[in-house]
Amino acid sequence: MTKSKLTEIRWHGRGGQGAVTSAELVAQAAIGEGKYAQAFPSFSPERRGAPVMAFNRINPDEPIRTRAEVDQPDVVLIMDPNLLSILDATSGLKEGGTVIINTKKSVEQVRKDFGISARLALVDANTIAQETLGVLIVNTTMIGAMIKATGVISSESIKEPFEKRFGRLAERNIKALERAVEETKIGEWLEMAKAKTKEKPGTKGELSWKEIEIGCFITKPGNSVEIKTGDWKSRRPEFDFDKCNKCTLCYFFCPEGCIAKTKDGYFEADLFYCKGCGICATECPKDAITMVEEAK
Ligand code: SF4
Ligand code: SF4
Repeated sequence: MTKSKLTEIRWHGRGGQGAVTSAELVAQAAIGEGKYAQAFPSFSPERRGAPVMAFNRINPDEPIRTRAEVDQPDVVLIMDPNLLSILDATSGLKEGGTVIINTKKSVEQVRKDFGISARLALVDANTIAQETLGVLIVNTTMIGAMIKATGVISSESIKEPFEKRFGRLAERNIKALERAVEETKIGEWLEMAKAKTKEKPGTKGELSWKEIEIGCFITKPGNSVEIKTGDWKSRRPEFDFDKCNKCTLCYFFCPEGCIAKTKDGYFEADLFYCKGCGICATECPKDAITMVEEAK
């Protein structure tokens, strides 16, 4: 008897980008095709902009008994390219696996910038979502890239879950998905990627568990200030001093405490720590703060 083909998928996104919804929609489509499927999120701080993960398992033949998080995926999806600077996209990736990234960059540029030699599928999901949906929510576009790169579900089977979830907005989401299917570029797996997965931890370029610093401990007083928690953000606040009346509301509402007074009495965010949540912009009574997309 041949072993059934289980596909394990790991989604990386930010709170508000729809990673969990994507995983659910993919599982519903797979079940609609008569397959077995799971979708579940990783539990973490539920904050807009915070890195989040979600997971799928899809098996065409057999029920899935495993309930653990996916740590050896066949497919990794990166919904925000800024995450590439704070996570290892290929962590645990199986040999022959695929990394799907929302980026404007070419395959060659991604390989050079992030050292990813695995099979790549790249799509400019931000542009597609903005032009097709009118909002920067890339989840349905990323599903299109996944369909193109893996064929684990079909474009047809996703339509019903879209219609149930999005109602009258389903049509636009289907268009975004179909555009992603058209426009996703594939860069095949390089030989050096295979070599990397065969390396034993601790032999070359990887830390063994004995070398990893223990988490959740303060190893040096005040070391939290050295950590660039602003890496989370996909948007940043821009302050317009011509509109600002120096009311201080942004200063008090910022949950990170990263807004400070300038020497002229205006306010500015320290982008090293700002998470891009947008609360300051929402609370500002003078519309003096605009959230703009982070440069990729
Ligand atoms: S500065 Fe604004 S966007 Fe940044 S963390 Fe504070 S409230 Fe959120
Ligand atoms: S909330 Fe707006 S108006 Fe008030 S200090 Fe901040 S930027 Fe200025």
